Amino acid sequence: MSSNLYIPKTCKHCGNAFTARTTVTKYCSDICAKRAYKARKRNEKVQATLEETIQQQKEIVNDYNPNAVNNKDFLSVTEASQLIGVSRWTIQRMIQQGRLKAVPFGRKHIVARWQIENLFN
Ligand SMILES: [Zn+2]
Repeated sequence: MSSNLYIPKTCKHCGNAFTARTTVTKYCSDICAKRAYKARKRNEKVQATLEETIQQQKEIVNDYNPNAVNNKDFLSVTEASQLIGVSRWTIQRMIQQGRLKAVPFGRKHIVARWQIENLFN
């Protein structure tokens, strides 16, 4: 860059007015350039931490998803089987045997969650 240039500028870090010798100079001194660099790095870190926190909060929200099997009061046979951790055939057999009460809704059978919880009482 030409050293004949004298460009009046304001330091992006400290806000002091200074004369730049190149068009790309943003800071009044090396110290400001270094401090600005450090501040940017720090901001990037803060930003990353922030995004991580937001991501974690999203995951927590997902845990409270009302559609999650754990939060439903009425379950399909498949969901009931997922809740207990058995196959849906086991659930269907229990319904046929009358050990588990299920109400037909169209082609599906719906099991009330408390019916399942009752099995353990
Ligand atoms: Zn400065």
